[in-house]
Amino acid sequence: MKALQYVEIGQPPRVMEVEKPTPGPGEILLKVTAAGACHSDEFVMGLPEEAYVYGLPLTLGHEGAGIVDEVGAGVTAVQVGDSVAVYGPWGCGVCPACAKGQENYCHVAAERGIVPPGLGAPGAMAEYMLVDNQRHLVPLGDLDPVENVSLTDAGLTPYHAIKPSLPALVPGAVAVVIGSGGLGHIGIQILRAMSPATVVALDVSDEKLQLAKDVGAHHAFRSDESAVEKVRALNGGRGATAVFDFVGIEPTTALAAKLTHPDSEIVIVGVGAGAVPVGIFTLPWETKARAPYWGSRSELFEVLDLARAGLIHVETERFSLDDAPKAYERMHAGTLRGRAVIVP
Ligand code: NAD
Ligand code: ZN
Repeated sequence: MKALQYVEIGQPPRVMEVEKPTPGPGEILLKVTAAGACHSDEFVMGLPEEAYVYGLPLTLGHEGAGIVDEVGAGVTAVQVGDSVAVYGPWGCGVCPACAKGQENYCHVAAERGIVPPGLGAPGAMAEYMLVDNQRHLVPLGDLDPVENVSLTDAGLTPYHAIKPSLPALVPGAVAVVIGSGGLGHIGIQILRAMSPATVVALDVSDEKLQLAKDVGAHHAFRSDESAVEKVRALNGGRGATAVFDFVGIEPTTALAAKLTHPDSEIVIVGVGAGAVPVGIFTLPWETKARAPYWGSRSELFEVLDLARAGLIHVETERFSLDDAPKAYERMHAGTLRGRAVIVP
């Protein structure tokens, strides 16, 4: 079968011929219907050899959906022919975090070498993929896999980032989304669907600012110093109650810190070198900063239900498996609208 693989450090991914896997006990083989391309893949493929820990060759794709093709012994929750999405942040399944469905924060995954598909285990950018356990499958039902596959990360991650901030996002509050790309454009919709706050998007690209408005941002400003005054002007100088930074580089985390007011929140989702120093003179009183990772199993059900309710959708650009390397070229150039989805 064909698979898009990262083969050599520093080189673009390539379409390779690999063996079709066979499910062992407890495993499920999916015929892949769709796989999303995430900026995290670009981060991974940009790492120098000494920092690279994902194994080579690596079949990419940590956003996956498929039709159950074959099940291993003991699999009872899904049947051949079911359309499913893959919950990606695999954990051990039994530690206290996993018991809450928070496999993204599994206490032992790192030490036991349990890794997500596309980020260590073979991912979804292939004709078939193996899923290690039936609990990592969520039924898609009538949801179109191509249109919705990216909800497994680009939807789930902002949902998990935003949900804890919702009680503070009361009428009159301002919520800022930095970076209106794959994650950000869904984050904007989640905020609009779940809070009465004024939603402001900041980006460096005019096309992404337009996308932000198209998906519901009340305001979209350029992501630079001038944004501070514009955001503050929206609620009498108060500033943002929550800033969700989907870029996470030094300029954006520094900007986030300037946008907040006392007892607000900075949520760093983007994988960059940015950080927010918490100290008595660095942030407004009681302002909190956190850096969440992906999301829980139950939250993925909630995100898919938001889509079913018509409250969120993914802007997608489709690529064949043969054209998948082009998706990453377009991502690198910053010209994708929403999410690139590979349809094998
Ligand atoms: P993307 O490439 O689709 O979107 C990035 C957006 O940020 C683009 O719209 C781009 O124009 C914008 N941008 C770039 N520089 C900016 C700046 N200085 N100010 C404002 N906007 C700027 O990327 P994505 O797939 O949405 O991923 C976003 C980030 O989230 C990446 O760093 C990715 O690795 C990370 N990520 C984190 C998690 C997690 O669990 N924490 C999960 C998935 C992705
Ligand atoms: Zn991702």
